[in-house]
Amino acid sequence: MISEKANQIGTSPTLKITAKAKAMKAEGIDVIDLSVGEPDFATPDNVKVAGIKAIEQNFTKYTENEGIPTLKKAIVARLKEDYGLSYETNEVIVSSGAKSSLFHLFQALINEDEEVIIPSPFWVTYPQTVLLAKGKPIIVPTKEENGFLLTPGELKSAITPATKALILCNPSNPTGAAYSKQALEALAEIIRGEDLFVVADEIYGKLVYDDFQFTSFASLGEDIKKKTILINGVSKSYSMTGWRIGYAAGPAEIINGMAKIQSHTTSHPCSISQKASLEALIGPQYEVTRMASEFQRRRNYVLMRLQSIPHISCFKPQGAFYLFPNVSHYYDKEANGIQIRNSYGMAYYLLKEARVAIVPGDSFGADNCIRISYATSMENLEKGMGRIVEALSKLKTAKKVKRVALNNSSTRVKKSVPVDSSIDVKMRDALVAEVNGHLGYENYYEWNANINGVIVQLRTNVSHLNDFWVENWYPAQLEAGLEPHGIIYAVDGIAGREPRAFYNSETKTGVIVNADNYGPARSLALGLVADVSERLFGVHAARGMSVDFGGNGLILIGPPGTNKTELFFGLLQDKRFRLHSSDIVFVRYSGNTPLADCVERKLYIPTNTVEVFPRLAPLFDHSKCENVITRKEDCQDAECLRQEDCRLDRGSPFCYKAAKEAHCLLDPNWIGGQEVHTKRTALRWVFILRNDPTSPAAILIDKEEALRILESGESPGAKKSLSPAKNQPFYNPHLLLTTPERLELHKNFFRRLLENTSCYLFNSGVASAEKIKEIVTGEK
Ligand code: PMP
Repeated sequence: MISEKANQIGTSPTLKITAKAKAMKAEGIDVIDLSVGEPDFATPDNVKVAGIKAIEQNFTKYTENEGIPTLKKAIVARLKEDYGLSYETNEVIVSSGAKSSLFHLFQALINEDEEVIIPSPFWVTYPQTVLLAKGKPIIVPTKEENGFLLTPGELKSAITPATKALILCNPSNPTGAAYSKQALEALAEIIRGEDLFVVADEIYGKLVYDDFQFTSFASLGEDIKKKTILINGVSKSYSMTGWRIGYAAGPAEIINGMAKIQSHTTSHPCSISQKASLEALIGPQYEVTRMASEFQRRRNYVLMRLQSIPHISCFKPQGAFYLFPNVSHYYDKEANGIQIRNSYGMAYYLLKEARVAIVPGDSFGADNCIRISYATSMENLEKGMGRIVEALSKLKTAKKVKRVALNNSSTRVKKSVPVDSSIDVKMRDALVAEVNGHLGYENYYEWNANINGVIVQLRTNVSHLNDFWVENWYPAQLEAGLEPHGIIYAVDGIAGREPRAFYNSETKTGVIVNADNYGPARSLALGLVADVSERLFGVHAARGMSVDFGGNGLILIGPPGTNKTELFFGLLQDKRFRLHSSDIVFVRYSGNTPLADCVERKLYIPTNTVEVFPRLAPLFDHSKCENVITRKEDCQDAECLRQEDCRLDRGSPFCYKAAKEAHCLLDPNWIGGQEVHTKRTALRWVFILRNDPTSPAAILIDKEEALRILESGESPGAKKSLSPAKNQPFYNPHLLLTTPERLELHKNFFRRLLENTSCYLFNSGVASAEKIKEIVTGEK
């Protein structure tokens, strides 16, 4: 529902981890938060007083769009005093935090697809803010042995005609690396010869240690200043993160562009905070020096603790308040059942085992490292480092645990394909001739399945399809020359054809072109069988999930979104209910008793079912699987990725949840033998599902109303599906032909079924499997 960009963008990992640490603290867990990007000091008193005064003087109305003139003047004066820079006030804009300045800057500077060079490790917001401006982040890795500084050579080779800007974070978040004047001069030499801007994020410029001389990039010369947009703010130097004041200084044209954009986003930053920031910039500066010397003490302490841990290397930073140790030696080690594979795994382990929150390096583009913030108190640092040291010492080389080697096939086509079920015999003959041309003897597979007494022959050149076909069905007699009731051709590798399926009812022929996944073949087979068996034997197919209760069956029928799977597995939690079929049943009569058969030897189940029925996971482990995700890059579960608690990161070789299209062929008997599974049940209850917040839980309905709902394929109260395929008559995608005669035949079948069963309209929006149990067992 939300936009693609909102869907793709992740929340800032630092904010998320900090929030997690706060939530753990609220639950009474004594977690030490070393993830925060803000000083633990109070905002200086004079600044607070200025804020209060602003309120008392009713300075609480809209201000100038680019910031109040006095504050802009103070910024100009500070830049002059600190770095010898001369700006006019129209070359300065005040924003709601430096983050906001950066956002407006890239919106004002970048055209679609223009490139912005971002040295990595980078502050997490840079690539995202460039992407939001439709620019292209070009990540250029720096080396630990170069002190995480971008070298002139690296810069030069990253520049292309599309390059618009370079972001230079000095000192850097997350490494703490700072550029000497000489190092900056070397970069400036390259910049001089190129047509590009430098975004100099100098928000940590005041926090440098060991007499390091900080140089502002714009101070390297008038020519460089013209190409530089300086970003700074009061968050870090004055311990004012929550006040949200940052600023940009640069060429008037760019600042003016930012101002136009800002006038439509935030208007201007908070009036009270502007007054407080004015005081911060013009008032006494000794608090800044005091904080910097305290940070230096803390840096030295944490660095000393890190250096005492075997196999950890840590660059000694000159600024900011982060350390960025390389902890990759500990990857592939384990303790207490947690195996670490990468920086996310390390963050997860430290949170669970040591109750210390840090930020995984991968979020800054450096998976070998983690970021430890020393912005917190010495007491917290002592405790936190003690816990990290202890937790790391527990890590042992992972025993070569026998990894389950999943029997998994990955197919090119993942989804169902369109089916044309109205082709005539001529077209059928033409198609069969075409596909036969691709069925060379050297990779030809043929196998007869007996599906509820109907013999269906598969002819394919895809070994995976043959493999799943043989696994899915019971075998028909195998002698050659047996006349099948129908034939399915599934042929891959036909150039110029889209994946598609065709069916001709007269000759009972199915043709699948260029789909190598199993779903289309199975679906076509079930459709063909229904077509044959309803005419030959009066046996019809009903699509639904069915369970057995003491020899009597109930079937859940409903479109996607009505929680069919949850109800089905909810019922199976109760030992008295046995699994019958997970997708489709074939119904024949004995007198007036409708007998439903599960016709599949193995059930084709989406592997994400483990989310509602975890007991299946070990069974999937030794079943045949299709399209199970084994690499994080292939995961499509945006929600899960955002949680940053990925089981692939934590050592699992695959994830059953990650792809909707992942399936397994499961032998239902493996769940617990005949105690748990039966192939036949006498249907007594039909539950037609809907899902809305207001309708009654269950209403007994008469057969005509039930028929109307079933025939329409729509579910009352449930949202109309956007995909027409999902609102099929009788919710049955395997019906293939839906001519009026066919629908009439099917309606008559359901009429008889409903005459001999009790039918409920059941609302899964307000009731669970417990309610169905009550109805079926008669127990409250
Ligand atoms: N730049 C860098 C490098 C940062 O680390 C931060 C804060 N984490 C900011 C900019 C943004 O600071 P603010 O929006 O609080 O001014």
